[in-house]
Amino acid sequence: MHEYSVVASLIDLCEENAKKHNAKEVQKVVVAIGERSGMDKSLFISAFETFREESIFCKNSILEILDEKVELECKDCGVVFYPKELLYGECIKCGSSRLEIIKGKEMHLMSLELLQEEDL
Ligand SMILES: [Zn+2]
Repeated sequence: MHEYSVVASLIDLCEENAKKHNAKEVQKVVVAIGERSGMDKSLFISAFETFREESIFCKNSILEILDEKVELECKDCGVVFYPKELLYGECIKCGSSRLEIIKGKEMHLMSLELLQEEDL
């Protein structure tokens, strides 16, 4: 499943960051999931819960998911806009259908809360 491989690399990224900052633990992971990423949020959460069991740093991490709206750019007039609902048929300015999704297709790691050694 797509979610599982994404979460696996997310956990890797968290661990790398934790090591880099000499953290004891990752307390909180904040991610943004694009509404057109094709990712199922509940699958994402269950994948996270599965993977964090095997991670030294993420075992007790809290996962927070933010929604990222789709943002479109018109290839003809260059206008950037958020489409209304899920209708991204044409440009709101020039009516062109040459639109590119520039945001909302991926999952991003937004922030991490790390627990440092001295906090214990
Ligand atoms: Zn346009």
